[in-house]
Amino acid sequence: MSNFNIANKLLKMPKTELHLHLDGSVRPSTLLQLASSSRLPLPVQTIEELEPYMQVEEDCRSLKEYLDKFDFVLPFLQTAEALEQVAYEAVAQSAEQGCLYVEVRFAPQLHTLQGLSVHDVIAHVLRGLEAAAKQLSIQAQGIAICMRHHSSSLNMETVEAAAAFLGTGLAAVDLAGDEASFPPGAFHAVFARARELGLPVTIHAGEAAGAENIREAVYGLGAIRIGHGIRLQESAELARAIRELGLPLEMCPTSNIQTKAVPDWESYPIRDYFLQGLKITVNTDNPTVSNTTLTREYELLHRHFGFTWAELKQIALNGAEAAFLPDDGKQILREKMLQRFLELDAEL
Ligand SMILES: [Zn+2]
Repeated sequence: MSNFNIANKLLKMPKTELHLHLDGSVRPSTLLQLASSSRLPLPVQTIEELEPYMQVEEDCRSLKEYLDKFDFVLPFLQTAEALEQVAYEAVAQSAEQGCLYVEVRFAPQLHTLQGLSVHDVIAHVLRGLEAAAKQLSIQAQGIAICMRHHSSSLNMETVEAAAAFLGTGLAAVDLAGDEASFPPGAFHAVFARARELGLPVTIHAGEAAGAENIREAVYGLGAIRIGHGIRLQESAELARAIRELGLPLEMCPTSNIQTKAVPDWESYPIRDYFLQGLKITVNTDNPTVSNTTLTREYELLHRHFGFTWAELKQIALNGAEAAFLPDDGKQILREKMLQRFLELDAEL
């Protein structure tokens, strides 16, 4: 297949996006507009000048440096209108990439600086997701994130609020932030409560720390999906267990290289994971911060690892299986994707 053909095909390919951060998806043009309507100052006034504040450079050194980019946009994401707009746009960007299903994650506690309650934040984000989903024939759900540097009581409040929206647009809870400084062991009570409330759990693990964090996320916190899981390659025994459990990994190739989860593409374990039968999915993490798109992530797999069309199709379909949907919802999504694949194969 020529590069042109595959790029064209990959754009139209039906996909899912299971690991997308709301605050990592804000378009620079939207930030300019939010700054002007909120009268909050920005250090620069054009899209080109804003990009370095919102995107990592090629030489990004760590997850911590990567996470600093979020502090720049958060002050602008503190009102009902701003949250609804960026939630809408996150779904719209996914739809443009051929996504049929997207889960958008956000940390409600980070959007309460101007008086919104955690409950309000969730309600407004879900409203934005729902509006976009309706207009753009894509399915969208939210994931509420607990932050590693937050107190147990703040995270407990997030979990309780999330549970009130379970089944009405809120799909699951997550744990994110500085993994190296805050291992998962400290969050047992928070995620025990989440499970008690019926909330599915995904955890960022094995991105900035080792395989033990993945073990703890699964067996200690009850994660049924793992965010990234790159350092699972450090334990063959745990990788086997994760495969037997059928736990999906939400991999985000460009982001994983940028945060130095691995030093380079050669050490990126996605081909090995695929061959081992691990249920891998491909996602963007943060299209703005990482300066990428979902289509580009699939192209990179083709370019760096020689994944064939049939293999990429398998990875895309893993997304339907890994989605936080009931079994019949997963089946409907899978059938929609298969139908789109049939049309695509006939067309190109
Ligand atoms: Zn993430």
